[in-house]
Amino acid sequence: MEHQANNQPVPLIPFRVSVARAETLSPHFKRIVFQGPDLKIFADAGYDERIKILLPLPDGSVPPPSFFEATPEDPLAWYQQWKTMPAGSRNPLRTYTVRKVRPESEQIDVDFVIHDHAGPAGAFAEAARPGDQAIIIGPNAQAGGPVAGMDFHPGQSRHLLLVGDETAVPAIGAIMDSLIRDHWQGEGVALIEVPTEEDRLPLPEHEGIRIIWTTCDESGHGHALTEAMRNLLDDLPIHPPTAATAESSKEFTEVDIDKELLWETADAAQADASIYADDLYAWIAGEAATVRELRRMLVRDQGMDRRSVSFMGYWRQGRSEMS
Ligand SMILES: Cc1cc2nc3c(=O)[nH]c(=O)nc-3n(C[C@H](O)[C@H](O)[C@H](O)COP(=O)(O)OP(=O)(O)OC[C@H]3O[C@@H](n4cnc5c(N)ncnc54)[C@H](O)[C@@H]3O)c2cc1C
Repeated sequence: MEHQANNQPVPLIPFRVSVARAETLSPHFKRIVFQGPDLKIFADAGYDERIKILLPLPDGSVPPPSFFEATPEDPLAWYQQWKTMPAGSRNPLRTYTVRKVRPESEQIDVDFVIHDHAGPAGAFAEAARPGDQAIIIGPNAQAGGPVAGMDFHPGQSRHLLLVGDETAVPAIGAIMDSLIRDHWQGEGVALIEVPTEEDRLPLPEHEGIRIIWTTCDESGHGHALTEAMRNLLDDLPIHPPTAATAESSKEFTEVDIDKELLWETADAAQADASIYADDLYAWIAGEAATVRELRRMLVRDQGMDRRSVSFMGYWRQGRSEMS
């Protein structure tokens, strides 16, 4: 087990896994069940816990354990090395959500969107066979302390708005599971766009949360979601702008999604201190241009307090994750 300079176990570690099963869930979703003995110590934080997956090279190989040796100063030294390797010879790295963890059976489920112009991750999922190798970079249960990689931080809020496209369906499913597990009391709406009606996956049902599905229309990805959001605005418990939120919406700045990642989230401590029971908390993830439009709508036009929203560009149309 890797340790940091202070002799504490490393919080994020590589889990050597192989595909146990590949299940077609719908025309655009495939569930890959990964297994490996290391997964016994995968920290199950629930909610929108993200992982990185190092995918096999075309010959099926993944880096050997020696590649991940931590230095006392830098437990993620391998990542610095990975970044300097030529794109063709290093294993592709992509970000996904943990849909379910079963440490007792040493398995985790990851739901992959099967999309057009597939990059290495989409292609891996589409072709996955039992025994295929991968490395998951995820949280170490032996490290203790808060688990890194979660952005769902509703503070004290009892009013939720979850919005996402198909890439956010696994996270919304895991958030719903976690809210049910944690006996969360409150109400809310989950607004989701998927490519086709058959992609409306069965999601866990929380009695306070209404799920609204939309289907991608001929105007393009994200259009139906944005329109559904516009229609919902009047029903949302957004507080009228106060002097402070009006000031922050005046200071609204655009994010150039072709130059930077659209990622605006608060940490748990900030959320606990600033989001109260009556406040609406919004969690929004998906294609960056759509998330940008939803951000304009909620923050610039409705004056919603930015501290009560997590905006996450999960992918960018026309761009590979690592470009
Ligand atoms: C925190 C986080 C959690 C995520 N969780 C999930 C998850 O659980 N399941 C999931 O499927 N995705 C998830 N994503 C999105 C996923 O990382 C991207 O879709 C990723 O780009 C897919 O990699 P790829 O190798 O298939 O394509 P890339 O090599 O990254 O891109 C190749 C091409 O495909 C396009 N493309 C990428 N994704 C899509 C898409 N979904 N639909 C249409 N075109 C696309 C790109 O614009 C590009 O033109 C998550 C992203 C983040 C940041």
